[in-house]
Amino acid sequence: MSKHFAFVVVPGHGHVNPTVPLVEKLVARGHRVTYLTAAELLPAAVAAGATPMERPWALPRPAQRGYPFAYSVKVLVARLRAAQEQAELVSPALVSRLGQDPPDAVCYDSMDVLGPLLAARLGVPMIALMPSWANNEHFDLHDLLVRGGLPDDSGLKEELGELRLTQARFRSANGLPGADAPALAYEPPSPLHLVFVPREFQIAGDTFDHRFRFLGPSLGSRAADRGWRPPADGSPVLFVSLGTAFNDRADFYAQCIEAFGGTRWHVVMAVGERVDLPPAPDNFAIAAYFPQPAVLDGATVFLSHTGMNSTLESLYYGVPLVSVPQMPEQVVNGGRVAELGLGRRLDPSAVTARSLRQTVEEVAADPGIRGNVTEFAARLRAVNGAVLGADALEELLR
Ligand code: UDP
Repeated sequence: MSKHFAFVVVPGHGHVNPTVPLVEKLVARGHRVTYLTAAELLPAAVAAGATPMERPWALPRPAQRGYPFAYSVKVLVARLRAAQEQAELVSPALVSRLGQDPPDAVCYDSMDVLGPLLAARLGVPMIALMPSWANNEHFDLHDLLVRGGLPDDSGLKEELGELRLTQARFRSANGLPGADAPALAYEPPSPLHLVFVPREFQIAGDTFDHRFRFLGPSLGSRAADRGWRPPADGSPVLFVSLGTAFNDRADFYAQCIEAFGGTRWHVVMAVGERVDLPPAPDNFAIAAYFPQPAVLDGATVFLSHTGMNSTLESLYYGVPLVSVPQMPEQVVNGGRVAELGLGRRLDPSAVTARSLRQTVEEVAADPGIRGNVTEFAARLRAVNGAVLGADALEELLR
């Protein structure tokens, strides 16, 4: 029977993109999706077949200054508090709009509290959408931040304790489950978590129970975007991108030009919208944004911030990674890439034009890494995450 899902998603390409194939699949099966995110990201949801609903969003952008990371646990706690205040502020109007055509379930971005709040107030099941690491008692936010380079003796435990209290107060005040949840999770316990990460990439992957479905990456109709073509002369393509959130790094782009200008590489460099486009050497194509699936499909190496989506999309297309992380989570992603033999991670505090060039050349020439990546890609492609996700949602609501 046809169902109505409300998707409540954090405004960000890295949050919206992984949900698009799932929305496409649900709509193809005759379900309806109302999609809540910020106005500028709604077109992607509409293209996937959803009904758009603007979700007010006034959180400031996290500060950016490269390494050492500005995205500390203090920033995280402050943002969480601000997100909670905003969710409480905007939820009455959204509940009333959604109430006119109530959803059967709310699928909510696990890094945001608005979705659970709406689900609780509408009295419908809540399903977590996890664009990055899932967490449980074996791997939580504390582990992530310590692995991500924040020293454990820097008051981290106390700050995370405060974060937990903030969450607990919010949950009990709003009738949400999990006020006493032991794990330092972002989200209250849900009956179902759709994780857009494959189990073999997830840290402590075999410790998650049946409430977690590891869908892995799927591209959906994004894979058909041919808005970029490889160079006609057959030069190997190096794709460079720091993603869409922590990409304000004119200094890094200048290092890439120094490292790869005039080399055998055809360099495709996405620099985002917060820096001026630097002058491009002959062997560079530089733009704010490229259709990443198309570029990866023709790339030899991806020099990447290793945001979770970029990492998994690269592996899906069988492209080894060189990681230059821009915040703690990306350090962990890059570390996992290196640990699984799928690329290398550079220390973001010590990157030079020389180390960039040397590492990219070494990774490109490494048959072990290439073999591992090819094998990993085959495994990712054997699974259709959007189908698994839609099946799990239908099963839950049956
Ligand atoms: N992306 C893209 N073109 C670009 C830069 C990014 O299509 O030029 C997409 C990319 O394919 C991915 C998302 O934006 O799906 C970025 O998500 P990720 O988790 O890698 O990093 P974030 O931007 O959240 O830091």
